[in-house]
Amino acid sequence: MPRSPFEWIEEQARARARAGLVRTLRPRPADSALLDLAGNDYLGLARHPEVTEGAARAARTWGAGATGSRLVSGSTELHAELELELAEFCGFEAALVLSSGYAANLAAVTALAPHGSLIVSDAGNHASLIDGCRLARGTTQVVAHADPDAVRKALDTRTGPAIVVSDTVFSVDGDAAPLRALAAACREAGTPPGEADGTREPGASGASGRSGAGLLLDDAHGLGVVGEGGRGAAWAAGLAGAPDVVTTVTLSKSLGSQGGAVLGPAHVIDHLVNAARTFIFDTGLAPAAAGAALAALRLLRGEPQRAARARAVATALYERLTAEGLEAVRPDAAVVSVRAPSPEQALRWAARCRAAGLAVGCFRPPSVPDGVSRLRLTARADLTDEQLDRAVNVLTEARR
Ligand code: PMP
Repeated sequence: MPRSPFEWIEEQARARARAGLVRTLRPRPADSALLDLAGNDYLGLARHPEVTEGAARAARTWGAGATGSRLVSGSTELHAELELELAEFCGFEAALVLSSGYAANLAAVTALAPHGSLIVSDAGNHASLIDGCRLARGTTQVVAHADPDAVRKALDTRTGPAIVVSDTVFSVDGDAAPLRALAAACREAGTPPGEADGTREPGASGASGRSGAGLLLDDAHGLGVVGEGGRGAAWAAGLAGAPDVVTTVTLSKSLGSQGGAVLGPAHVIDHLVNAARTFIFDTGLAPAAAGAALAALRLLRGEPQRAARARAVATALYERLTAEGLEAVRPDAAVVSVRAPSPEQALRWAARCRAAGLAVGCFRPPSVPDGVSRLRLTARADLTDEQLDRAVNVLTEARR
């Protein structure tokens, strides 16, 4: 036998083990009694009978799989219906559904950042946006987290089209991006020098001929939680439907299903249909996932209080943990991040919670760029006050 070509993998595995950073899968039993603050089922819809029935009905009607890519055989009337209702709900002209939020981000970034363009990307962005930047033909400049001035400076260096890319709610700490300031920075990038701050000479020559920068927002954690009735962070910031704003969403968090979408002006969505490789060369979203997402969206529309409840549970969780002396980040949506002193202590803390019946997320390097480990809790609209009490008690006891 020749030497294994994969010895380097063994070396990496040993290094990972030495650093205590090995990750393993833990299959979740169907009848798990754990109180789940680890998943992203923010509105408690993943097991809602109307949502699971939406999936089952769609599978019976359209089949288990989409049978092909969207441009060949994988576009059903169900996909069209979901796109229409999603765009309408979030306040955009058009939507395009893809097989995941990850694929939606790759599609949006690559299709909107051609050769010669500049991508300005927040340092705290989700891995799927980062990978979109890596795949895109444009040049990426990473800027400090949630810093519109840094965005402005970066945009000054552009020589062609530009987009600014940011999560609306950051997945690790649950903090919100300064959306209005980002939009202002994008728009100022298109005004002639001096006009934005009123220092331009009267009578100076007119438009510089530059358009503003596009703003691409990943609203994975905003949809269903932020804004009136959960219409998303772009809606809440008054940016929904703007000609220079495109958002991406996932169907796998607040909608309890699977899949993703890009929302924006109709001509941008048409461009994606023709140019986005993760749309064109990927099998269409499974009908069951589309059916479940559509059922969840309709529930959300009929029960707008679900979004407010998720936010209220997050705030309550934050306030009570902080009162117990834990260091947490004030939540802007449903994600509550609690700091741990070290990766090892984060792991032990999460393990003690699990032993006491509470599932929490544990984020540690290299998943977190700043090297700070935390427990990540997700507030759910369907948590009862008793469950909230239990979660707080388990978290504080397990910390001791
Ligand atoms: N963006 C953000 C901010 C996310 O947190 C996630 C999910 N972890 C995604 C995109 C990817 O979405 P999906 O899971 O639907 O691929």
